[in-house]
Order: sequence, then C-alpha cells, then structure tokens
Amino acid sequence: MVQAVGAISPAGRPQTSDPLAGRVVVIDPGHQLGNHNFPAEINRPVPAGGFTKPCNTTGTATNRGYPEATFTWQVSRLLAKRLRGLGATVRMTRDSNRQDRWGPCVDVRGRAGNAIDADLKVSVHADGSYARGARGFHVIVPPDRAPWTDDIAAPSMRLAEALRAGLLGKRFAVASYVAGGDGLDVRSDLGTLNLSDVPTAMVELGNMRSAAEARVMTSPRGRARYARALVAGIREFLG
Ligand SMILES: [Zn+2]
Repeated sequence: MVQAVGAISPAGRPQTSDPLAGRVVVIDPGHQLGNHNFPAEINRPVPAGGFTKPCNTTGTATNRGYPEATFTWQVSRLLAKRLRGLGATVRMTRDSNRQDRWGPCVDVRGRAGNAIDADLKVSVHADGSYARGARGFHVIVPPDRAPWTDDIAAPSMRLAEALRAGLLGKRFAVASYVAGGDGLDVRSDLGTLNLSDVPTAMVELGNMRSAAEARVMTSPRGRARYARALVAGIREFLG
C-alpha cells in the first residue's frame, strides 16, 4: 500500500515523541499454553508454503517447567507495550496465554501481517536444545524461494540483522550450536515465515534447556532486557 501524500491529518501527524507513529508491527508470540490439551486440533495439517505442516506445536520449556508459550507471551506483551509507547500500531497473533486455548495455526500466523500491510512481523520463540553447552540466540529468515518468499527474502534478512544487532546491544550472545555461528539461520520449512508477504523473522531468543539462560528468561528483568533488545532491532530496521 502506498500512503498518499496529504493523507495524514494534522492531528495524526507523527510527533517527535512518537518515532514509530504510522508504523504497523505484527508480533507473533510462539505457541499457546493449552496446545498440549488439543492434540487433534494441533496436529491437523495446514498449508505451510508449498507443503503442509501440523497446525502448531506445543513448544519447549525450561527444565523446571516454565513453558515456552508463557515466555513468548510475556516478552511479546512487553514488546507490544514499548512499541505502542513509541507510537506504533501493534497487532498480536494471539490475545491470551491459557490452558483452555490452542493455536492459532502456523498458516494464520504466517499471513497475519498481509491484509494490514504491516511494516514487519516478528515471531517470538525460544529453543529447546539438549546439545551440550547449547546457549545463545539466533534469528531465522526465509530463503529467496519463488513463489513464496522471493519477494520478502531481502528485507527479511535486513530485519534479522537489525534484530541481531539489537540483541547483541543488550548483551545477548549468538547461539553456540547453530550452524554458521553468526546468529542467523535461513529455513524454508516454516509456514509462519513462508506465508508472509511482509518482511519477517523468527527470533529464538535463547535455549530454555540452558540453566543460565533459563534464569534470565524466568526473571522479569531478563524478559524486559529481551523486549528492549527487540525494540532496538525493530527501530533500527524501521529507520
Ligand atoms: Zn517455539
């Protein structure tokens, strides 16, 4: 969508205190707390970009049982609040974190920014690797793959690099266990990325099975640091 010159009313003119006024950001908090209670719904195949995948998965958890769904929800809420405070319009792909809810499916998450022509979509996740010493974050982007993501691959990579810079700036380290070692991963198997028509990236903020990272993720201060890091990355991407 092209914004017409003069379409912004005087009252709606971006103010210096609202640096993200007019920007539309979709936040996709990974999973849903109740997914494990709805196996039939969660395992139903849905379109994922030239193939099907299960609607959703249950996600991982820390060794003490703090669920990924709750972590992604809590960080996403903090992120949304901060972005709205900067003037952005924020849409979330789910509006609850409850044991009696499931989904949405990855196809719905994938398309979430398309109809509203969002400036970007960020999916918030955390990993669950049992590899020895595995810790750190990585950012996943779609490849240049026609007809699905060839149109968004380049800006999605710019978004991923900005998010990586934001996380590094808040003293988070890139993943020690993901190939390449640069904190970036390109994957064609994720419906959440494949179905997007707007720049998109998925952040795996850390490894929940790492005791050290679990301590950060389960603390309000740690989650606030993650949210500030993502805000910094989003602001850098939006210029
Ligand atoms: Zn996840």
